[in-house]
Amino acid sequence: MDTQKKAQRELRAWRREKKLIPVMIAKYCRGVHGTKGEMCEDCRALTEYALFRLDKCPFKVNKQFCSFCRIHCYRPEMRQKIKDVMRYSGPRMLFSHPIFALSHVVQMMRSRRAQKKAAQNTPQN
Ligand code: SF4
Ligand SMILES: [Zn+2]
Repeated sequence: MDTQKKAQRELRAWRREKKLIPVMIAKYCRGVHGTKGEMCEDCRALTEYALFRLDKCPFKVNKQFCSFCRIHCYRPEMRQKIKDVMRYSGPRMLFSHPIFALSHVVQMMRSRRAQKKAAQNTPQN
């Protein structure tokens, strides 16, 4: 595979997230804040913030979802907001964007397995 193709491939998840985060926030805004057309101001600010964080993300290559990030670069209040969005919109993406939604489930399972393994390997006092 040539270098350019490889780079494109490695950034695929990052690009997909950039495209779908605004979709998820808009879904949340419609469902939870009752907006009809445009998103509310709060959700617009969250979208801008999330896209800014994604642009600055140090883990763009073969990116995992932010939910499983070991550093989590969001400010605490924004982190809580995006968590609420994920909880609401995640399951609702299953019909419109099944691959995206399923890859979130797979990463969640992997992350839980890794946490469990780490806990088993931690010596008890
Ligand atoms: S939370 Fe982690 S994966 Fe998400 S944008 Fe920030 S650094 Fe990147
Ligand atoms: Zn809203």
